[in-house]
Amino acid sequence: MRRVLLAAPRGYCAGVERAVRTVEEALRRHGPPIYVRKQIVHNTFVVDDLTRRGAVFVEELDEVPDGALVIFSAHGVSPAVKEHAERRGLRTIDATCPLVTKVHKEAVRFAEAGYEIVLIGHADHEEVEGTRGEAPGRTHVVDPVTPDDLRLPADRPVGWLSQTTLSVGETMAAVSRLRERFPGLVDPPSEDICYASQNRQEALAAIAAECDLVLVVGSANSSNSRRLVEVALAAGAPAGHLVDHVGDLEEDWLDGVETVGVSSGASVPEHLVTGLLERLAERGFADVRPVTLTRETFTFSLPAELRSELP
Ligand code: SF4
Repeated sequence: MRRVLLAAPRGYCAGVERAVRTVEEALRRHGPPIYVRKQIVHNTFVVDDLTRRGAVFVEELDEVPDGALVIFSAHGVSPAVKEHAERRGLRTIDATCPLVTKVHKEAVRFAEAGYEIVLIGHADHEEVEGTRGEAPGRTHVVDPVTPDDLRLPADRPVGWLSQTTLSVGETMAAVSRLRERFPGLVDPPSEDICYASQNRQEALAAIAAECDLVLVVGSANSSNSRRLVEVALAAGAPAGHLVDHVGDLEEDWLDGVETVGVSSGASVPEHLVTGLLERLAERGFADVRPVTLTRETFTFSLPAELRSELP
């Protein structure tokens, strides 16, 4: 009997919901164009939709005209970017997820206490660039799969932090490895991998071994979505793929498959999952069974700049 196991929680987290609402609210109050530095969240459809409504996505502040309003994305920015905006006299709204801001503050505290900071994450990811910028001279970025690449004298006080969207298992394995070299390695004051990444990983891992195939809806540049595929494979799914939308589904993936596991990354609107489920139903997978591991209820309020009127 062909069936779909639909993992929950999946899709939008509180930080993404807030960031998207920030752009929508800025457009409503101020009208287009509203500039956004980097993709507000890493999802092609969200970015395309906001572009149609008047948001202009840029890579760097140099592309923003004088006097314009610019929003910083959910992934956060370094202090240098904020200073650049100030020097330019740009009006800004900071849509950084509060859970990323928390990691920034931890980096500042470690640096002020004289620690070297091992930041476990992907060096080219915007979030890592932003966090590293809080203490650039003291922060050493290490990929979670190659912790031995870290070059640091063993006699320095060292604390570790991480990108918020990593695989929990992979990160803890990296920390164990680092601790062999740095026995005094200090943990972050609280967990850096965010609740949304953890919940989505645990929910998908719980069903992965029952599935012949796992499909994760998410864009290729979405860190948490990519980690979901890896987690599913590590938890026993024999095959797993990331699909930006239903058009990415390849028919031969379904050959011989009885059970498909479905989830989506934290930046993915639910209609993209619905589109995939409709296509799967056409292919004989109409029996959809939701499997809910945790219920998420909290939300973040809009950035302070939108809680009061901008000048
Ligand atoms: Fe915030 Fe986590 Fe969502 Fe990233 S994935 S925006 S850190 S809640």
